[in-house]
Amino acid sequence: MTEPAAIPYGRQSIGPADVEAVAAAVQDPWLTTGPKVGEFEKAVAAVAGTRSGVAVNSGTAALHAACRAVGIGPGDEVLVPPMTFVATANAVVHCGGRPVFVDVDPGTLLMDPDAAARAVTPRTKAILAVDYAGQPCEWDRLRDIAQRSRLRLLDDACHALGATYRGKPLGDCAEAVLYSFHPVKHITTAEGGLVATNDDAIASACRRFRNHGLDSDLLERARRDTWVYDAVDFGLNYRLSDLQCALGISQMARLGPFLASRRRIAAEYDRRLRQHPLVEPLQTRKEVSHAYHLYVVRVRDGFSRDEVLRRLRARGIKATVHYPAAHLMSAYRQRFGTKPGDCPNAEDASDRILSLPMFPDLTPADQDAVLAALDAVARDPGARA
Ligand SMILES: *Cc1c(COP(=O)(O)O)cnc(C)c1O
Repeated sequence: MTEPAAIPYGRQSIGPADVEAVAAAVQDPWLTTGPKVGEFEKAVAAVAGTRSGVAVNSGTAALHAACRAVGIGPGDEVLVPPMTFVATANAVVHCGGRPVFVDVDPGTLLMDPDAAARAVTPRTKAILAVDYAGQPCEWDRLRDIAQRSRLRLLDDACHALGATYRGKPLGDCAEAVLYSFHPVKHITTAEGGLVATNDDAIASACRRFRNHGLDSDLLERARRDTWVYDAVDFGLNYRLSDLQCALGISQMARLGPFLASRRRIAAEYDRRLRQHPLVEPLQTRKEVSHAYHLYVVRVRDGFSRDEVLRRLRARGIKATVHYPAAHLMSAYRQRFGTKPGDCPNAEDASDRILSLPMFPDLTPADQDAVLAALDAVARDPGARA
C-alpha cells in the first residue's frame, strides 16, 4: 500500500490554458516590458477597483515601491501589524523608516484600530495594514485615524485578491493596495506583485521606481521610436516579465472560480469545526467578503499547538503557522528593541494558531482527510499541553 500524498497548506492551480499561454508568450518578441504587462495590470486593477495597476516582480517589491511612493523615509514611523509576513515591516525598513507594531484584535487577528489610534505620534507617517488571511481590515476606522492625523494609508492585500469591504473593492479603502502572485496566493505569476491605486502620483512613482527611476520604459520608447531617456529618480529593476504576465492573464480568468472554491472550502471547515474539541476557527466579520488565502484556526486551551502541528504533519496534513509574530524576529529585536509583551494578542496567537490546507484544488476527499486527522489528534493524549 502506498502512503497517501501529503496535503500542503497551499498550492497553485495550473491548467491547460495557463500552459498554452506561457508557451505562446515565450515565442513572443516581447519577453519583458511588452504589451502583456499592461494587459495584466488592467485585469488586476479591475478587481481592485482602481484606475491604475503597476505590476512588479514580487509582493515585496509592491510594498517597497508603494512605501517609497507615499514618501516614507528616514525618521518616519509606520504602523504595521505584527501578525504578518516580515516583508510588510521590512518594506518600511528598506525606506529608512521605523515600523511601529500595533497589536491585533484577538478574534480576527486584524490590526486593532483602537491600538492604532493610540500608537500615533508626531512622527507617524503612514498606516500599512494587512488584510490577514484574506479578511479586509476595519478600513473605515483606519481611514478616520489616517485622516485625523494626516497619515498615508496602505493596504497589504497579498492575502486578499477578490475580497471586498462593505461591498466595495479594496481600491476604495486605501491609497494603494499591494498584491502578491507567489504560487500560494490567489493567482500566480510564479513570482510577482502589483500596486493598485487611484492616485496618479503613486502610480507614476511606482512605474518609475520599478524601472531604475527612468522617465520612460522600452515599450514607450519603441512606440515613439526614440532612444532618449532620463533618470529622474533612483529606482531598481522590479519589472515583471511578459512571460509571467501571460501566466497572470490566464490565471486572472480563473479568479472567480478560485475564490468560489476557497469560500466553499471555508464554509465546509466552518460547518464541521463548529464546537470541535481541538480547534476553533478565527472570527469573520459580516460586512466583508473574505477571500480566504488562509484558513486559520486556534488550538483550544489544554492542547499544545506545536504537538498538534507535529501530529497533523506526521499524518500528511502539512498545516503550518501564519505567522510567528514579526516584532519578535531577531532583526527587529536587535535594531528596534521590540520584545515580548509589546503585542500580547499577536504573541498569544503566534503560539496558538495554525493554518489548515486551503487551495482551490483541495478535493472534498482531501478536506475529509484533514478533518479526520483533526479528530484523531483531538483524541491523542500526546497532543495535550
Ligand atoms: C506573500 C506576502 C508578501 C510578500 O509577497 P512576495 O510576493 O512573496 O514578495 C507580503 N505580505 C504578505 C502579507 C504576504 O502574504
